[in-house]
Amino acid sequence: MFKTSTTALLLCLAGAASAHDALAHRRAHEHKRQLLSVGVSASVGVSAAPTISASVSAPTAAPATTQNAATVAVPSSLLTLSASGVPALSAITFGMPSGATVAPTTTYTPGVTPPISGAPALPTPFVFEQDAWPKLDKVAPTDSDEVQEWLKELDGVDIPDMAPTVDGSCAGDPSAAANASARGWWTCGGWTRPSDITACPDKMTWGVSFDDGPAPYSEKLLTFLGEKDIHATFFAVGSRVVSYPDLLIEEYMSGHEISVHTWSHPPLTSLTNEQIVAELGWSRKAIKTVLGVTPTTMRAPYGDIDDRVRAISNAMGLRPIIWTTAPDHIPFDTNDWRVAGGDVTGLQQFTTFEAILGNASVMDTGFIVLQHDLYEITVDLAIGYTLNSALTHNPPFSLKAIGECMNMAPGDMYAETTSNKTQTRVSTSTNQTSGAPSLGSPSAAFLSAVALGITGLFVA
Ligand SMILES: [Zn+2]
Repeated sequence: MFKTSTTALLLCLAGAASAHDALAHRRAHEHKRQLLSVGVSASVGVSAAPTISASVSAPTAAPATTQNAATVAVPSSLLTLSASGVPALSAITFGMPSGATVAPTTTYTPGVTPPISGAPALPTPFVFEQDAWPKLDKVAPTDSDEVQEWLKELDGVDIPDMAPTVDGSCAGDPSAAANASARGWWTCGGWTRPSDITACPDKMTWGVSFDDGPAPYSEKLLTFLGEKDIHATFFAVGSRVVSYPDLLIEEYMSGHEISVHTWSHPPLTSLTNEQIVAELGWSRKAIKTVLGVTPTTMRAPYGDIDDRVRAISNAMGLRPIIWTTAPDHIPFDTNDWRVAGGDVTGLQQFTTFEAILGNASVMDTGFIVLQHDLYEITVDLAIGYTLNSALTHNPPFSLKAIGECMNMAPGDMYAETTSNKTQTRVSTSTNQTSGAPSLGSPSAAFLSAVALGITGLFVA
């Protein structure tokens, strides 16, 4: 039996979370975003709510977050010592006191040259005017002139004719879940396509990514990444971009990669074609307006992508990037969002992720890791523990931004500077097989779970 907090705060849902987790987290996540959008402190120290029992139970599989945790020993120094302004691991938990936010440390002059060869100069400072943008953290409307213009990018593209899912969860749409393989639906079974970026090609290479910002604690993360000379890929939410443009500029000017993560963070498979275009288009426009460049990649919130979402994304010049699923079907998800949501402690999160990292040594490729910079807790876990663990690992991991680990030229991350001007129309034929070599077909347990309508427990 699983329990979940009704006010738990979700970042990107991934891995073996139940669909009930997903929906509760999404609701709370929207609430959190609204707080952020009006400038309220990003503390996660809200009062704990009563827990409820999910109405389904897992017949076989245990959540990835507890499966292997007992096998990893945590150095006692991590439990009690803090470093770089990060609390001791044993103190990082839901409801902990929040620290001060840090404003961007560097102001970049408009007209200055970005670190990407051939990129346009930095635009004049962005001033947010609500009338020019959709409502923050609401699914973008489709009747604007902008969306009507962006819809033309789908002309001549074969968009699979499939109905939106009920709510982007497996349990919420059993018939779509039963058809997940044909739909190429990542959420229910981990289905991918060759056009997706799902892993760094070189063994022991860690593709570093942070989702859902920019946000008030992103600066703390940027300082750490700068000190360690690590570049990351930031999957930016449009509503956050227009709220914290200076942080996005600092990320970009510091050599990090910027990618699209929708305007309001909905599960994209649940939207109409027009709504998907609106969500991707407004996030893309926000980034272009603030930075002067247009990303060529995207990540679906919650990893909720299928062939319809893929086709639309690729038609809009945005190649999907997902985090890696290991051969044992457990994703490289740090589960930092579970700590911010109150489901696990920082200690449980760290020990679990250390166990997941054990997969790295048995894989022929590197891997892409899911982390978040929306909350103080997730930033503290990253800079105090997860990334430090990677840096001190034996043998060492090579930490790189995702385009970098894919051996793409830096300019290929943006439409204005890419050398591949024809990359935008990538085939996502439904005849293609799963791009995840370890996921040739769903397990019998998964298929029986589909029949029982509890597939949320089996997402890969
Ligand atoms: Zn996200």
